[in-house]
Amino acid sequence: MVTGVLAFQGDFAEHLQVLSRMHMPSVEVRTKDDMSKIDALIIPGGESTVIAKFLEETGVGREIQKRIKNVKHPLRVYGTCAGAIVLARKATGKNAPKTLGLIDAVVDRNAYGTQVDSFEAELKISGIRKPVPVAFIRAPKIVSVGKGLEILSRFRGEPVLIRQGNVMIGTFHAEVRDCTDIHRMFLA
Ligand code: GLN
Repeated sequence: MVTGVLAFQGDFAEHLQVLSRMHMPSVEVRTKDDMSKIDALIIPGGESTVIAKFLEETGVGREIQKRIKNVKHPLRVYGTCAGAIVLARKATGKNAPKTLGLIDAVVDRNAYGTQVDSFEAELKISGIRKPVPVAFIRAPKIVSVGKGLEILSRFRGEPVLIRQGNVMIGTFHAEVRDCTDIHRMFLA
């Protein structure tokens, strides 16, 4: 199983470090060709507007949409923060980008405020025994979730990690706080 990390922009290096600590094979993904080498994809945090633009221009976005439905070589995807925004059914907020529409949720950009409103927290996550240390960095909020989606974690009562089929999104960063638990759960 090879995990790709979308490497247009953002904190892809931190995700690659987590995968390397787990001794999981990984590659950086920038083109449609890179997509053929992978079984799982992580879309990192960063600037959702920039990531969305590159997804469209390179055709990688279209390829992700196709691979999610491909029964022969299916893809699982985990989006963190900006990655969550681009995977959502719809993004809202100032300059909200066009999304891939791969999970039935509406995600609101920069919903906690600006950079100074970033913060750390410990989350209880279904399937993980210990509380997970995470960082919310200019984080979005999941403001609406379709019926039947799994809510894997909440913060102050609101969903922050959700899953629908092969697609999981989280509004926070665990990869910047040395945590491998969520990646392990994603790849299990
Ligand atoms: N605020 C960023 C955006 O909307 C996301 C921040 C992040 O990924 N840490 O693109």
